[in-house]
Amino acid sequence: MLPILTLRPREERRIKEGHLWVFTTDLSAIPQMEPGSLIRLSTSDGASLGTGFYNPLSKIAIRLLGGEIDVVDEDFFVERITRAARLRALLLPNAEAYRVVFGEADLLSGLIVDLYGSTLVIQTLSAGMDSRKDLIVSALRRVFPAATGIIEKNLSQMRTKEGLELTEGVIWGEVPSTVQFRENDILLEVDITAGQKTGYFLDQKLNRKIVADLSAGRTVLDCFCNVGGFALNAAKGGATESVGIDSSAPAIESAQHHATINNLNACSFVKANVFDYLREQVAEGRKWDMVILDPPSFAKHRGALRGALAGYAELNRTALKLLDSGGILVTASCTQIVPEHDLLDIIYRESARVRRRLRLIHRGSQAPDHPVLLAMPETQYLKFLVFEVM
Ligand code: SAH
Repeated sequence: MLPILTLRPREERRIKEGHLWVFTTDLSAIPQMEPGSLIRLSTSDGASLGTGFYNPLSKIAIRLLGGEIDVVDEDFFVERITRAARLRALLLPNAEAYRVVFGEADLLSGLIVDLYGSTLVIQTLSAGMDSRKDLIVSALRRVFPAATGIIEKNLSQMRTKEGLELTEGVIWGEVPSTVQFRENDILLEVDITAGQKTGYFLDQKLNRKIVADLSAGRTVLDCFCNVGGFALNAAKGGATESVGIDSSAPAIESAQHHATINNLNACSFVKANVFDYLREQVAEGRKWDMVILDPPSFAKHRGALRGALAGYAELNRTALKLLDSGGILVTASCTQIVPEHDLLDIIYRESARVRRRLRLIHRGSQAPDHPVLLAMPETQYLKFLVFEVM
């Protein structure tokens, strides 16, 4: 028999409708138990709401598993991960790098698994998942028999909120110093070993393809380029000049390396602060045919929302000044708490200020290896909008 925790009545609806997080304030009592313990959640009337992992140290006290699970063993993980992998195989059949498990959206709250070639990268972001790392590793080896190594990159601040330390390192097999894979026919070599800070953003994979399709014959400025993602795709798509900007030296170095190994000679990369760089470009009277904005998340919580909105306004306004009629603005936002309509509002307002008439020619989101659990808006975070200046 699993220990039973009781939900306060006012939260019943949200949980019954499928949300997977129960906050400390939603529970009638916070009993002491080992962080990560498997528990059963019940209504105040004694009806079961399913099982989940309990962590009395975290504000998210319970992460439900989406059903009645009596035993969480290797087979449980094999079944869930197999299901997750099957979806990716259908929707991204040729992907050499993709997110295998996207936490809640795969009913595995607290677990992220990415595959790069034959290397698996895992993040265990909750006590429940972290204390079952051995089971997860064995399950992954069964689901991916061709995998050669598994590394944990447990560096997210989310872990500290669960009382877990930040740590990274190889946990099974061998992990090469750089993982090689192709995305949109571009060869990438990303350093994922301990200590490296570049990594790779898998969620923009399909959006990069859109940029490639729109780039022929254009000059392209890729702001927040990281290891080159959009800039490389623009060059592949026939851009006459493709310049990437990022403030991280290792990212710029890696982006340059990618341009070289792919013979994308239209590419060049500059280490700079994008806000400063864009202002300088305006001062110099420079124009571009396409400007891409893919900044990091500007706000992780409501308190930072105003600053985030101001950041998006400034970036989009300045970028628009660099575009004339026929120009293309590509703007992304991964700030989960800024919904798409707010971003559209900001861009509409700023475009009016700088007298650019825009039409929206494409909208996208995170690639399908990052599915959205409808009951949890928290799983929908990426906005991707493409405008043409008319
Ligand atoms: N467009 C990339 C992902 C961008 S991630 C891709 O397709 O893969 C966000 C990037 O912004 C990071 O590489 C980070 O180093 C960079 N960054 C954050 N703040 C910055 C700033 N003020 N100026 C320039 N780069 C910045």
